[in-house]
Amino acid sequence: MSDKKVRVRFAPSPTGDLHVGNIRTALFDWAYARHTGGEFIFRIEDTDRERVTDEYIQAAIDTLKWLGLDWDEGPEVGGQYGPYLQSQRLDIYAQWAAKFLAQGDAYHCYCSSEELEARREEQKKANVAPGYDGKCRTISETDLAKYQSEARKPVLRMRMPDGSTTFTDSIRGEVTFDHNFVPDFVLVRGDGSPLYTLAVAVDDVLMKVSHVLRGEDLLSSTPRQIRVYQAMGVATHDYPTFAHLPFVMGQDNAKLSKRNGEVSIAWYRDRGFLPEAICNYLALLGWSPGEDRENLTMKELAELFTVERVHSSPARFDMKKLEAINGDKIRLLDIDELLKRTTPFLIKDGVITGTPEELAIVKTALPIIQERIATLAEVSAMLKFLFTQNFSIDAEELPKVQESQSQEVLKKANEVLQDVSDWTHDSIEAALRAALIEGMGLKPRIAFGAVRIAVTGSHISPPLFESMELLGRQRSLARIAQSIA
Ligand code: GLU
Repeated sequence: MSDKKVRVRFAPSPTGDLHVGNIRTALFDWAYARHTGGEFIFRIEDTDRERVTDEYIQAAIDTLKWLGLDWDEGPEVGGQYGPYLQSQRLDIYAQWAAKFLAQGDAYHCYCSSEELEARREEQKKANVAPGYDGKCRTISETDLAKYQSEARKPVLRMRMPDGSTTFTDSIRGEVTFDHNFVPDFVLVRGDGSPLYTLAVAVDDVLMKVSHVLRGEDLLSSTPRQIRVYQAMGVATHDYPTFAHLPFVMGQDNAKLSKRNGEVSIAWYRDRGFLPEAICNYLALLGWSPGEDRENLTMKELAELFTVERVHSSPARFDMKKLEAINGDKIRLLDIDELLKRTTPFLIKDGVITGTPEELAIVKTALPIIQERIATLAEVSAMLKFLFTQNFSIDAEELPKVQESQSQEVLKKANEVLQDVSDWTHDSIEAALRAALIEGMGLKPRIAFGAVRIAVTGSHISPPLFESMELLGRQRSLARIAQSIA
């Protein structure tokens, strides 16, 4: 990319929770700024106040912070080119719009939506490129008087000259848009509110943004933004450098959406995905550090990130891989940190209330499940057997302990466990192996499966012998006795 002073922005329009695609963009923007020692700007594009609410804006800020991103300019930190909420910059857009009108770059358009719709239908029939036909570029005195007498509120449209726009995209190379396919576009609505294309271009110029890294879905808005730069009088070498990131596809190869995958970052957070795992995984969607490397910290991402290594082909979202990375990150946590992160899940699921005694038990149990979980939310199912007051076996597991063979296993286990003197997982294992595997000649899966369900109520649990040690002799034996019909 070029040698300008790097200023990159992440500029979402939060009309809901930020999704996987937004965060992948934010992450690349952040990593590029950090890699180059430039500045990372966070700007909220909220000119559409019907869809972007204060709640969504706050959620977007919280999500970025939760993920571990920090910004040099933007909401909460300020900066010399603020404000960073577009809704607080409306007068700026209005001034530029007035200038474009005065310069003749833009014009008032009085066409009603019904008229536009009717002409679109005609375009379709005639097989010509759809879009505004330029009708109001010139308006006769009579028409103008008529529109005004009807109290029509005009929109402001940008005049697209004949020809084409060419720019170099750092990922896609040279891109050209023929203006036959870029019709005159609306800058300001009839009610005076600015549209995205006006606000984004004005802000990128005024905020001295040097590089625009954003999703490929915005590629086609680039010629319109360049047209706004021209009307603003920006010199070509001062245009930002564009880099459009590849689409993120779902498993079915269609663009990732609510329909073919989970897209909301809040959904992943609520299911116990770690922010460091989400960032690590999303960083690999369309970029790679090379040498098949997959495990990265944020610091390493910042060190290694270059636009040259961003792929131009679409990336595919793979839930299994995200889970695997999440499991890896869980295993990197020390037990106190794992305890801190799992506690809210255990409380929310009603497994514990959070007393120091309960937390002490959880802390002893965590090392034996740390290897086995892919998400933090899984701890509840794994550890609930340690805390249930009125123990019962899951309904669907019940038939498994009622079988006559299981009953025999449980009776035998009950008998030999009485004699185990020190209640440690090693002694428990030795006693059960001798009695059930060697003594009764059973396969471990059959023998220990029955005991597991009897003691934990479920076939999902931490390793059996450790579980029994944690549960203690008295409760383990009482549960086995309860399962003997
Ligand atoms: N606000 C736009 C969006 O959320 C993105 C702006 C940009 O990156 O150019 O779609």
